[in-house]
Amino acid sequence: HVSTALIKNHDLVVAEELRSKNMLRNHALAMSVSDVGWRTLLSMLAYKADLYGRKFLTVNPRNTTQTCSHCGHIMTGKNKLTLADRKWTCPNCGAFHVRDHNAAENILAKGLATL
Ligand SMILES: [Zn+2]
Repeated sequence: HVSTALIKNHDLVVAEELRSKNMLRNHALAMSVSDVGWRTLLSMLAYKADLYGRKFLTVNPRNTTQTCSHCGHIMTGKNKLTLADRKWTCPNCGAFHVRDHNAAENILAKGLATL
């Protein structure tokens, strides 16, 4: 199962709490999983983290997509990113982002901030 590989190969795995668009991130991997199976995946990750002595965290998904991982700028109002915006440039610092990768950076940062 993918959860075993994730936990065995990484000291820390951070995932978003359940929501419709789910993201999982560690230093080497960004993946997106549909809501189907997310709850199961989270519980398997928690179980296997225990088993292998790794750290598994979940974080609040608020603004993980809309925040620039480079400068912290949050896209709001008419600038708010939509599902069609796969790639975007931060209007504040000019950083270029691939949406899911940027979200993954923010998820990891949120997780690290709780340690
Ligand atoms: Zn920025």
